[in-house]
Amino acid sequence: MALALVGARLVDGTGAPPRDGVVVTIENGRIASVEDAPPPEAETLDVEGTTLLPGLVDAHVHLSSLDVEAPADVEEYALADAARRMLEAGITTVRDLGSYGRSLFRLRDAIRLGFCPGPRLVLCGRVIAATCPGARAFPGMYREADGADELRKAVREQVREGADLVKVMATGALTVAEDVEPAQLTREELDAVVAESHRLGYMVAAHAEGLEGIRFSVEAGVDTLEHGELGFRAPEVLAAMAERAIVLVPTLSVFDFVTESERFPAWMRERAKELGESARKTVEAARREGVELAMGADAPPHGANARELVRLVEAGLSPMEGIVAATSAAARASGLENEIGTVEPGKVADLLVVDGDALADVRVLCDRDRIRVVLQAGEIVGHPEWADSSRPGLGAPDPHA
Ligand SMILES: [Zn+2]
Repeated sequence: MALALVGARLVDGTGAPPRDGVVVTIENGRIASVEDAPPPEAETLDVEGTTLLPGLVDAHVHLSSLDVEAPADVEEYALADAARRMLEAGITTVRDLGSYGRSLFRLRDAIRLGFCPGPRLVLCGRVIAATCPGARAFPGMYREADGADELRKAVREQVREGADLVKVMATGALTVAEDVEPAQLTREELDAVVAESHRLGYMVAAHAEGLEGIRFSVEAGVDTLEHGELGFRAPEVLAAMAERAIVLVPTLSVFDFVTESERFPAWMRERAKELGESARKTVEAARREGVELAMGADAPPHGANARELVRLVEAGLSPMEGIVAATSAAARASGLENEIGTVEPGKVADLLVVDGDALADVRVLCDRDRIRVVLQAGEIVGHPEWADSSRPGLGAPDPHA
């Protein structure tokens, strides 16, 4: 039986103007139609007074950066818990850009098989990097490799493990003994990573904070650029990104997270503050140049991912642009633009329904109490009361009954 969500204000993720009082009908896990009246055979769910959007997509997460204390022997359960919290917050797809061992591959597959709740996970596995200090800061997360042949091998290893995309460090990160200039990989090395990944059919996400690494990444033709905060100094490079349709994932939240967290040393917090200011300048500059921006929080707490959307809006995006960044643009960054990220017939019915008008105030997307219902592939997953009372009939919670 089809299910029709009736009466919401639709913000469909494409950037098109909102439509009021629409009826979104779901059948067999996909969006069957977006109309003004329900087809007669559909069961209905009244969602008047809400905004209906595509499920949110976070294009830069590290699930392994846990926000809870988890002894090693229960860590996989903590990862599953983080995944569930994100799904309940309306994050229906997550691109994870660096993890340890095989835990996340197991979690991704368990979620796919329906053994535990969580967003669709798109994984890079380990991060490919030059031999570098960062590998000591994150022991086990990096696959260090030097020279074109070894880098090609590192790409193939991630594919062997079951990665969905390839992540590469074009520059250092904000950690001990690293700076964001110069680029860590040579242009030739980065070219080898990109060429081998693309040859095998995998997208490439490049961590690039300093200008040289940003430039190399853009020239090498990566698919997404992570952080990119010093890009504002070279508008011509941002213009080239727009030209090549490379998505920028500014990760404003991670700079704020480090700045505000007592657990980092003072020098690192100070540096994060400066880089965060640069990142905001780059958001403005990239927007001017027409670069597509995607939401990626990069930092815990898991489930509060949409605060990145709020920060993007505070940094100069319109609320509509922020929602596009968190839906269709992040879907494209994840290589899933044909399946998710917009509310259009044929797309997978990953949907988020929030109380109030998300365009008037995007902060409602971070407010757990405002989340009315989350659907994943047409199934209500994110609102236990509604899910319980409405399954299997789904017509149950009728406020007018
Ligand atoms: Zn990251």
